[in-house]
This record gives sequence, C-alpha cells and structure tokens, in this order.
Amino acid sequence: MAIIEDGDLPHFQLGFVESPHPRDAPLAIEHFPTKIGGKPLWLNPRTPLDPAKLTCGACSAPMILLMQIYTAEDFPEEAYHRYLYLFVCRKGACHRGDRRLCTRVFRAQLPLDNDFYETDPDTEETTIKPAYSSTAATTCAVCGAAASKRCAACQKTWYCSRDHQYAHWTHAGHKEQCSRTTTATDVTSRLVRAKLLFPELEVVSEPELSESERIAAAAAAEGSATHNALVPLLRAPAVPEEYEDSETGVDRAFLKFQHRIDMYPKQVLRYLRVDPELDPEPLFVAAEEKPDLERVAPCPRCGAKRELECQVLSTVLAYLPLDVTDENSFDFGTYFVLTCPENCELKGEYAEEVVLRQDFSSDGMSSLAQRAEKAKEVLKEKEEAENDAE
Ligand SMILES: [Zn+2]
Ligand SMILES: [Zn+2]
Ligand SMILES: [Zn+2]
Ligand SMILES: [Zn+2]
Repeated sequence: MAIIEDGDLPHFQLGFVESPHPRDAPLAIEHFPTKIGGKPLWLNPRTPLDPAKLTCGACSAPMILLMQIYTAEDFPEEAYHRYLYLFVCRKGACHRGDRRLCTRVFRAQLPLDNDFYETDPDTEETTIKPAYSSTAATTCAVCGAAASKRCAACQKTWYCSRDHQYAHWTHAGHKEQCSRTTTATDVTSRLVRAKLLFPELEVVSEPELSESERIAAAAAAEGSATHNALVPLLRAPAVPEEYEDSETGVDRAFLKFQHRIDMYPKQVLRYLRVDPELDPEPLFVAAEEKPDLERVAPCPRCGAKRELECQVLSTVLAYLPLDVTDENSFDFGTYFVLTCPENCELKGEYAEEVVLRQDFSSDGMSSLAQRAEKAKEVLKEKEEAENDAE
C-alpha cells in the first residue's frame, strides 16, 4: 500500500471542479479538458460512440456523460492523447439492478502525429487542423453520440434517435429555430433543464499532499495575499489508525474514507495511475460490499490484467442538478475505473473498460440529501473564503 510521506515521492492527483457556475463558452477539445457533463468531446471526431453502446440496458433511455477524463500517457505512442469517457443512466432505479447495464466506461487514444491536432513541441499549445471539421462524423444535437437521423425540415440538424429529435424540438428550442438561420444560444442549459445532459464543468487537478507537506505549504503561503482556492482546508484530522481499534460500532472503512477526503473535501476525482512506483490505492466508502478490484476480466484486446486507474467520488453529485428529495434520484458512493495498463492500441476504435461501484453503508453518511447538504456547506465555505480574499 502506498504511503505518502515525503515531497520526493509521487502523489496521486486529485480533480476539483474549477467553478460551479455554468460556463459562458463550451470547453474546447483542443485544450483536452477533463470535465463533468455536457456533450462528450470526442478525441477522434470521425468516430463518435455508437448510440447503441450508450443505451441503458435497464430502461433503454440514452445514458449521459458523467465525466470525461484526459490522461495522456508516454507508452505506447498511440496513447499520447488518451481519454476515458464515463456514462451513466440518470435514473436511480436502473442502478438498483445490474449496474453494468447502466454505467459504462470507454477508452480512446490518438498518437501525437494525427489528422486532427497540431501540437507545438515547445509551447505544447494545440490547434485544430482543418480535417477536424471537414471529416467529422455527424453527431446528435442532444447527446453527441453518432447520428444517423436528420431533421426533415431543415436538413441540418442530426440526431441519434427519434427520442432525441423530439427532445430537441420540444425542450431545446428547435421548434422555433428550425426554419431560421441563427442557432439558439442556450441549448446546453435547456438540455440540462430537460435532464438530457449534466451541466458542463471543467475539472482541474492538484497533487494530493501528505499532512506534513500540507502544513509546510500552508506555512510558506502564510502572509501571501493570494488565496488559492485549491489549497486544502487545514483541519486537525484524527489519526486513521485510531479508527482501526475503536469499538464505536460505526463503519471504519467509511471513517477512514472520510478522514482522507476531509483533507481535500471538494475532490471529485482521485487519479491513481501516476507512477509505477505508486500502487493505486482504492478508498472504499464502506467496509461492506467492497467490489473485488482484483477479480476483473482481463483486457479482451491484449490479455493484460486490468488495473485500477481512477476513482470518481460522490462529491460530484453536489454539482449536478439532482432532486435530492427523490429517492429514485441518481446516486452512488464511489466508482472505481479499471483499465488496460498497457494502453493497448485501438486504431480509432473504443475499448470498453470496467467500472465498479460501491455505495455508502447505512451507518456511514447515508442519504444523498445529507451528503448534498455537506457538499453545499463546503462550497459556501469556499465562496466565503474567496470573498474574504478579494
Ligand atoms: Zn436506465
Ligand atoms: Zn442523442
Ligand atoms: Zn430542423
Ligand atoms: Zn489491452
């Protein structure tokens, strides 16, 4: 198990939502963002995912993008650009049955030398080549999946399915826009309100520092006028080992989880594949019903044993417009994403990888409403700290 002690050891990377406010402009693929929600930004515009792969196996509705994670790798060359796309059905009821039907994760890769992006080796700035738009496949105006149906009236707008054509017509303003030359500007926010997309929010990363490093960093920053919102809150957390011996009757795995999360309470993503020296360390949210991360099917392409790459945390739910009073609302404890460690070649295709889920036990923090309340408190604290800094 990895123990983070000194500054010279590698650190896990934590993802934080940059701003909880809706964006003025959508994120651009050439900046290779990691993000929550919105339509998927396809690394390869010629091969958007087939809507058949994005259909919930439980309710047959299209699944929606929860998160896409940019994870560039050195080997092989094809993994120079690399994305993981995590889709879920937003109906909580679907997740009570076989979760493999309503949660899926896909890997996409592209080498440095490709048809779509030009990266300046000195500045690392990337621009889009003309082939990006001229050879892009048509995508659904609602969900971004590959589209094969077109609006018969304007012949310009494409859809993956009749459902999404109907949704675009009634909820996203196509009824008014169809015959006009201008396009509606607030389509994304309308689709979010119609529960067809999650709001698009950028996720930025920071290394997870040990307690001693955090104290040193805070001491160094003291007196400095700029308040970095991502500097973790300094609290005096209890030593996790105490929990191991305690007879409190509460879920120790949850307390340990809570202790680790409390150092960076706004983290939504733990990126664990950072260095071969550092074993990915899963944080279970309960002692019960731990998914077996060792017994996962090997990569069907190359046979390698899949390994834990990252963990998505339920803190992300605070950023999604979910009805926390609805017991059928989409909810989860944590998702573990396991992938082929060889980044084996895909040649423009997608590799479906494995996502496993664990829920909070009833004696951990239980309801979605409770956790949403806590997450809101944290956001409020952050805003107050930002206002104080101004
Ligand atoms: Zn479903
Ligand atoms: Zn669609
Ligand atoms: Zn039309
Ligand atoms: Zn493989």
